[in-house]
Amino acid sequence: MITFDRHRRLRRSPAMRNLVRENHVRVEDLIYPLFIVEGENIKNEISSMPGVYHFSLDRLNEELQEIVSLGIQSVLLFGVPEHKDALGTEAYAEDGIVQQAIRHIKSGFPEMLVIADTCLCEYTDHGHCGVLHECGELLNDESLVLLSQAAVSQAKAGADIIAPSNMMDGFVTAIREALDEAGFTHIPIMSYAVKYASAYYGPFREAAKSAPQFGNRKSYQMDYANAREGLREAESDVIEGADFLMVKPGLAYMDMVLRLRQSFDLPLVVYNISGEYSMVKAASANGWIDEQGVVMETMVGFKRAGADLIITYHAKDVAKWLQGGL
Ligand SMILES: [Zn+2]
Repeated sequence: MITFDRHRRLRRSPAMRNLVRENHVRVEDLIYPLFIVEGENIKNEISSMPGVYHFSLDRLNEELQEIVSLGIQSVLLFGVPEHKDALGTEAYAEDGIVQQAIRHIKSGFPEMLVIADTCLCEYTDHGHCGVLHECGELLNDESLVLLSQAAVSQAKAGADIIAPSNMMDGFVTAIREALDEAGFTHIPIMSYAVKYASAYYGPFREAAKSAPQFGNRKSYQMDYANAREGLREAESDVIEGADFLMVKPGLAYMDMVLRLRQSFDLPLVVYNISGEYSMVKAASANGWIDEQGVVMETMVGFKRAGADLIITYHAKDVAKWLQGGL
């Protein structure tokens, strides 16, 4: 008689499958991005990201109350200022839109973990993530100075975590030193350590009004062909003192989540980005896929690959489905 393994024994019933399930998503794993704009009475849906809105501060509480009621405890803030200039001064202005938003959230919802995205591209008129030389090159060390100022201003406003995303070399060292000097030794850094130049960012650039006005970001964001380079990026950030590592985007980069999980012990974050969200929304609006099924499969896939935390525009839906007992 031929002998073989009977794997199907452990799949015979829902209870049996639940019993041996290896990976789970918890509501605490979810980080929900918020886009804050200047002005009053604004709750405008971002056309390429159905269900995601621009909020003015006076309309933000309705969203925050829903987030809290769903059990989501962490938000990632992006500011979209009216005024943009070459040096992105609103990124580090004391009364900048994101600084106001941080204060607003921490006064009304002190338990909420507020993660501040720290970059300049939402604030510069050229849409790049730092200081440009007149020849069009992005200047690394000059950009670090402004990025550090932005981080300190966000910490002063009450941010719980600083999340630098501009992919300048040395950004963790620069921000860590600046935070420590300003008395924020207790504020952790969530580094966008492995961030690729990706076509999946398209809808976000509408959301953050941050599309580069010329050129692209390939001289600072990574080439999507490279994996070993991602490990070098992550190692630098670990040595420089990062408290969390992030991989961005998510779906096309699951291998990088796994590689970082195998190489580093820091909490690992994956960013399930705008283009990934918009594709699911468009396909489900057309009746081509089962949205809940696809999203939950994706979330558990991130966990299986080794992510601890997931930044996702699906967070509210996932939290609702989890409450439904999945
Ligand atoms: Zn940027």
